[in-house]
Amino acid sequence: MIRSSPILNCINYIHERYSNISNGQVATYIPELAKANPDFFGICITTPDGQTYEVGESQHSFTIQSISKPFVYGLALADHGVDKVMSKVGVEPTGEAFNSIIFDEVYNRPYNPMVNAGAIATTALIKGNGYEQRFKRILTMFEEFAGRSLSIDEEVFQSEKSTGHRNRAIAYLELNAGMLEGNLDEHLDLYFRQCSILVTAKDLAIMAATLANNGINPITQQKVVNPKEVRAILSVMASCGMYDFSGEWMYRIGLPAKSGVGGGIIAVLPGQFGIGTFSPPLDERGNSVRGIKVCEELSQQFKFHLFDSHPVSQTCVSRTYTGAMVSSKRQRRVFQRDFLDQESEKILVYELKGDLYFATLEKLTRQLQNHQPTPQFIILDGHRVGNVNSSAITLLSEIKEWCLNQEIILFLTGFEDKIKVSLQANDWQNEMFINNVDAALEWCENHLLSEGNQQNITVTDQLLLEDMDIFKAFTTEEMAAITPLFTEVFYQPDDFIVCEGEEAKRLFLLAKGRATVSLKLPQSEERKRLTTYIPGIAFGELALFDIDISQRTADIMADTEVVCYVLEFARLKTLLNTHPEVYIKLLQTFGKSLVNTIKRATLEIRSLSV
Ligand code: GLN
Repeated sequence: MIRSSPILNCINYIHERYSNISNGQVATYIPELAKANPDFFGICITTPDGQTYEVGESQHSFTIQSISKPFVYGLALADHGVDKVMSKVGVEPTGEAFNSIIFDEVYNRPYNPMVNAGAIATTALIKGNGYEQRFKRILTMFEEFAGRSLSIDEEVFQSEKSTGHRNRAIAYLELNAGMLEGNLDEHLDLYFRQCSILVTAKDLAIMAATLANNGINPITQQKVVNPKEVRAILSVMASCGMYDFSGEWMYRIGLPAKSGVGGGIIAVLPGQFGIGTFSPPLDERGNSVRGIKVCEELSQQFKFHLFDSHPVSQTCVSRTYTGAMVSSKRQRRVFQRDFLDQESEKILVYELKGDLYFATLEKLTRQLQNHQPTPQFIILDGHRVGNVNSSAITLLSEIKEWCLNQEIILFLTGFEDKIKVSLQANDWQNEMFINNVDAALEWCENHLLSEGNQQNITVTDQLLLEDMDIFKAFTTEEMAAITPLFTEVFYQPDDFIVCEGEEAKRLFLLAKGRATVSLKLPQSEERKRLTTYIPGIAFGELALFDIDISQRTADIMADTEVVCYVLEFARLKTLLNTHPEVYIKLLQTFGKSLVNTIKRATLEIRSLSV
């Protein structure tokens, strides 16, 4: 139990502030209820992740009374579906007291399930074989909402059963009008009994939090009702839950709520919390006086009103860039790099963030459509995305259709599996999902390269020294001076070509096979792959420019059989003496390739701040 927190301080303060209010009367029309202690006062708030804040008599039991109504309504909906239930009970507020004897004459049904007439008709709908089984179903449902076993106050039950003439009269009128079917006494007993279930303010808060949590009990994690029933329950609570005070309640407090003559109130802020309050003295409409005050104060202090300060929808795009600004981490030959520098503008990446819903996706749709020139590939990266609601799923599918019509290839990367599943139900093919942006960029680059006939030369052949990118601009004479300096070295798969920490004394030109640069992760056997080298490129050349003896910063391992042309830095000195101009050209070429690498990195960094 939480003993101190800012939230708790706040409810403590509210509890203290209203505990002296002496307005209101404890209900007496059910004789047993008159015994309630008017001073008892409990407040409890539960969040959808199961945190509970409680003060006062939050664990004192009292009868649930009318707060049972929305929950039983949910059960009736689950039993019969909306159409059948709607034909028996409407959803219009009456503006009348909870026990008023009025019916919707046009549709021959009680007005709504939150007043007695509607609640009796609702309970009459609960399925089951006889009284015991039907009540067992009702009680079990309440126990699942509360997350614990509950009992009945037999005295209150008998008290209402023997004095509830008005409710009995309502039921007879309904029977007479054909609004009720079946055994009237059984229905009434069920109704009186559901009203006599004992709960605490804490139970009510957990029940309300279950509604706030889309029907999943935040303590037990059990799924108690379907989201569509939650929606129905909250809707009738919002429009009719506080009887003839419902309009003003919505206006002042702005939360779906339900009260009972036992002194309880529940209120729900969907997605955020459930409130349960307990204080027996009622106002003339049958709502707990202190309960209303507590909810009003909380709503004002924290701006809980459903229509309070709506966050105006933000953009869901955190960053956009083209493939020309950020390339995949895959190594490319210089001719490929040059080609991709020209072509990869056609790859458009949108990194998304936050929640995807109608308003944020509508903005994204516009941005995609207005992008000039029309891209050939769009990558939507969702690794920072939060919730994705169903209208966002619909709009994403519209984006997919639009891409199809525009002949744009679309990929989604980094989205959570559950979003993938919802999209697949909307006709998205598996191939449209790629794990991460880098892999998607690589796919698009490969596609561009193959369209432009710029694929790799078959890697099974060993490249000659003069085929290396670095020697592109070297003449035969220059090559003749350089070639003797290199030695050919062979590696087997998994051999270390370079070890982290070792002294850097040579550079490598990869002639055949593949080699991977990886870092050993601290406190783990795992390695993080940084890049994979392909034939034709140089590595280890950085050390050439490091004046002090430098150390290798990562491991490089052979993935396959590998052949490298290796140049010991010490041997370069010979070149300086014999062919100084070739020596300078070599250094310049390496320098230029490093400059290109830095330029690309700068471009990528710049894309981070756009
Ligand atoms: N059992 C009570 C009745 O039917 C419930 C009324 C209420 O809580 N408003 O009168």
